[in-house]
Amino acid sequence: MIISSKHRIEIPPVDVLSYIFEKSTQSAGLPTYINAEDSAQNFTKPELETLVRKLGSGLRELGGLQQGDVVLVCAENSIWYPVTILGTLCAGGIFTGANPAYTITELAHQLNVSSAKFIITDRERLPTVLKVAQAERTPRKNIFLIDGGEDRPPGGDVRHLSELLNHGQLQWERIDDLEVASQRTAVLNFSSGTTGPPKACMVTHHNLVANAEQSMHLDEMARVRKSDPTYATGDVHCAYVPLYHASKLFLACHFCILNVRRDCTTVIMPKFSLTSLLDAIQQFRITYLLVVPPVAVLLTKSPLLSGYDVSSVKFLLCGAAPLGRDTSMQLEKLFSANGARTRQGWGMTEATCSVTLFAPDEFDRTHSGVGYLVANMEAKIVTDEGKEVSYGEEGEAVIRGPNIFKGYHQNEAATKQAWTEDGWLKTGDYVVVQPDGLFSVVDRKKEFIKVKGFQVSPSELESHLLECDEVKDCAVIRVERDGQEHPQAHVVSHRKEVTADSILKFMDGRLSAHKKLTGGVVFTHEIPKSPSGKILRRLIKDPYSSN
Ligand code: AMP
Repeated sequence: MIISSKHRIEIPPVDVLSYIFEKSTQSAGLPTYINAEDSAQNFTKPELETLVRKLGSGLRELGGLQQGDVVLVCAENSIWYPVTILGTLCAGGIFTGANPAYTITELAHQLNVSSAKFIITDRERLPTVLKVAQAERTPRKNIFLIDGGEDRPPGGDVRHLSELLNHGQLQWERIDDLEVASQRTAVLNFSSGTTGPPKACMVTHHNLVANAEQSMHLDEMARVRKSDPTYATGDVHCAYVPLYHASKLFLACHFCILNVRRDCTTVIMPKFSLTSLLDAIQQFRITYLLVVPPVAVLLTKSPLLSGYDVSSVKFLLCGAAPLGRDTSMQLEKLFSANGARTRQGWGMTEATCSVTLFAPDEFDRTHSGVGYLVANMEAKIVTDEGKEVSYGEEGEAVIRGPNIFKGYHQNEAATKQAWTEDGWLKTGDYVVVQPDGLFSVVDRKKEFIKVKGFQVSPSELESHLLECDEVKDCAVIRVERDGQEHPQAHVVSHRKEVTADSILKFMDGRLSAHKKLTGGVVFTHEIPKSPSGKILRRLIKDPYSSN
């Protein structure tokens, strides 16, 4: 049974920059981007466009970037971050954003898998970037520092980003053809997919424009229904999650494309803390708050909130990982001054961003739904045996639509595995759909673990664990504590003196903090595997769980 969105829309067959800059007007309100720590640092939309064109020109003229070259950005949040994304697109390049917390190994993996030629980074990360660049033979002249200063950047031929801004302005190549827009990769966003280590998802210009239109269509529907659409020109958003998190509900669709297109304001926080988020909400009168579940939990558990005026918030959208029903209800209560409602959205990197959402005037009283299929999307629900099931029955959602990515960069095997034989993308999520089309996510079939909204790939952790002399075999599984997901290692060792501490010590510093084995280390005699050697994670149980 095919479940189709009730809505069909026309998606303009254009590139991202034409979409955001050519067809919208500049509002008289706040600037497009504001630094939360220093509001004097801001860019209006015309300033943004000029900088994007300048960076595009510099990347071409000074950097030597050619059509299709990849630019890797590994930097803390700043108002310059969106300029690097859009400037890369202006030059005809492809953007890939790395987690600023990445260790050398993780960054080297992303540089390799994305085949990035250029790196834009900041001073704090420069030592790591230089080591990776040396190992991977990226010339230092291809490294640019995002944070200013008049002095010569440390690191030989490394240059300031500002040097790229003195080479005139480039008019980006306008795409006006569906075939080209659907084929031209704009960003490489990293995801483990249903299995294995992180891979580079090729998200095209058409994917990004489609997903933005799919989201905006919901506001149009609310407008037609004569309700008050909350997400519109003049709304103020707060970007507190790392902006590299390009696809995950936040950057690509909201902070960088939708917000610019619709003349909204994005207040960018360099670093997250609950106090700085609350300060920003109060100071900038944030109207639209995107929330990831760990932040929702923080907000609901902290006494700090009562000391702030958060009445400006009209709309709360939560996604990226499961949100507990109680947390959702509490959150709504805390922000109820202006009638704000908490809604969830469900999406994935391979679908650009969102798959299901609620319109501004729709909401789910049960607090367990994740919305309805966005326009032009279709889904089927299938059991593990491949049998299609109907409304109310649980199964994996397989989906298709204009926002589904092109495939994994230089990885045909994983690309082939991502789709069913008849052309549907496997989401790796078990869902239930109500007869009215409301989706609920009930479990995750795919193996990655969501920690603070970030993907953690068990196989990445396993490959590091196997480098430890004390580990003969291992498997990493997802366990839950207080509604949050954690990685837990199951280890087979031939050494009697091995301890959980010695394993944790070995892993310390190898990978970024969110990949720590916070679910603990469990010693076992054997890892269950299929005849082909695949780890059978579902047979491995958390010994500390009462379920
Ligand atoms: P990512 O590709 O990192 O954005 O991760 C996508 C995955 O996060 C989905 O396939 C789900 O497993 C999970 N996810 C995203 N949004 C939700 C949600 N609202 N409820 C439950 N799981 C979610």
